[in-house]
Amino acid sequence: METVKDAWSGILDYLRNQEDISEVAFNVWISCIEPQSIENGDVVVHVHTNFQKKIISEHYSSKLCDAFRHVLGIPLGLKILSEEDSEPEAVSFDECDSGNLFGQKDTDYEYSFENFIVGSSNKFAHAASQAVASKPAGYYNPLFIYGGSGLGKTHLLYAICNEIRKNSPSVKIIYTKGEYIANELIEAIGTGTTPEFRAKYRQVDVLLVDDIQFIAGKVSTQEEFFHTFDALHQANKQIVLTSDRPPKEIATLEERLRTRFEMGLLADIQPPDIETRIAIVKRKAQLLDFTISDNVAEYIATQLKNNVRQLEGAVKRMRAQYLLGGEQPSMITAQNAIRDIRNDSQPVPITVERIINEVSRTLNVSPEDIRSNKRSAPISQARQVAVYIVRDITGLPMKAIGAEFGTRDHSTIVYAIQKVENRMAKDMSFKGMVMDIIKNISEK
Ligand code: ADP
Ligand code: MG
Repeated sequence: METVKDAWSGILDYLRNQEDISEVAFNVWISCIEPQSIENGDVVVHVHTNFQKKIISEHYSSKLCDAFRHVLGIPLGLKILSEEDSEPEAVSFDECDSGNLFGQKDTDYEYSFENFIVGSSNKFAHAASQAVASKPAGYYNPLFIYGGSGLGKTHLLYAICNEIRKNSPSVKIIYTKGEYIANELIEAIGTGTTPEFRAKYRQVDVLLVDDIQFIAGKVSTQEEFFHTFDALHQANKQIVLTSDRPPKEIATLEERLRTRFEMGLLADIQPPDIETRIAIVKRKAQLLDFTISDNVAEYIATQLKNNVRQLEGAVKRMRAQYLLGGEQPSMITAQNAIRDIRNDSQPVPITVERIINEVSRTLNVSPEDIRSNKRSAPISQARQVAVYIVRDITGLPMKAIGAEFGTRDHSTIVYAIQKVENRMAKDMSFKGMVMDIIKNISEK
């Protein structure tokens, strides 16, 4: 069989001639698809953004499958991969392609200072970030930025990264996340490569760690991070951290780390006020080459108050409606977009797997052991904590929880929950650890 890449132009021709696909839709949604391979009965294709992926899978997947059948002569499924599917991996500076960490050139993904709208809610964090970017280790070290989800913490971190890169390309930077550090360290311990782990982090000039709260409660990760922090700080290297809360509210952050996180500058970001929200809506539209009237911008800004990501989402949806169906932006399309965003932002159901993984990372016991019936003390304790949290957040019936942890015995589950409850009542640091795990799971 010819490869899918060879056949792609035939597939495009077929689709271009379909009456129910408009020329605009073809140009916007179909022509950007990059065929990769055929695997397990699926044609695997790449697109740039999750948004493209969503639109294509919702509106065009059956048409694409028709085309495969006609052109290739066999029925095949469709598998769409987007470059945004995974959050950016920990990237070292060499990989931090000019402009941004996704390696994309679209301005709407450029997390630069220029694209960051400044208002009273974020001007302090913004100014501190600019200062740090203009002279690493010259002003505040560490810079600790905190605030709720979707308020621009990651944007500022990337902007610092991009700005330093622009001014001094030879500076070595690592951007990573608290969660990655925890995973990386567990792996390093498992494979006996902690010296490499240390060496990697200690050779940088600038260390940016997003969502540092994920190292809370994780004893060996905090231990390692503490030494890395000190080594870099003493060598006068810049450290920037972000978190969803200030250090003093991260319950199981070790005291000595808390002290260090607080010794530079703490900068919080609050939800933007109405003027800032309107400015953000207009700016996001402008970056997408899309015009919306002042009334509509204001309407969106009054409806979506606490999360910039949602403001941006509303603009993108309206633009898609325009490109797909030719609907001019109006109060009505704005209302639809806002309703969709509100529906979308219902919390994702938390799975038992996610809970077990977070407990595993925190207590350094593998997910397999947590699910097993091994009885050594650390494994039992991790299992009990996992059982307690599963019960607490999913509210699954005891029997279903038992099945997840390889026991049909209802009393084992009840015992586990009681044991954790008793200990939480007596031991504040244990309670803090459980609360941190729950918080980390809920906020992903
Ligand atoms: P956080 O890391 O705090 O959860 P992000 O940095 O990921 O939030 O921001 C979410 C989205 O909102 C991003 O697309 C970002 O570009 C945008 N955003 C947040 N604050 C601003 C701002 N002040 N100006 C422009 N865009 C912003
Ligand atoms: Mg973020």
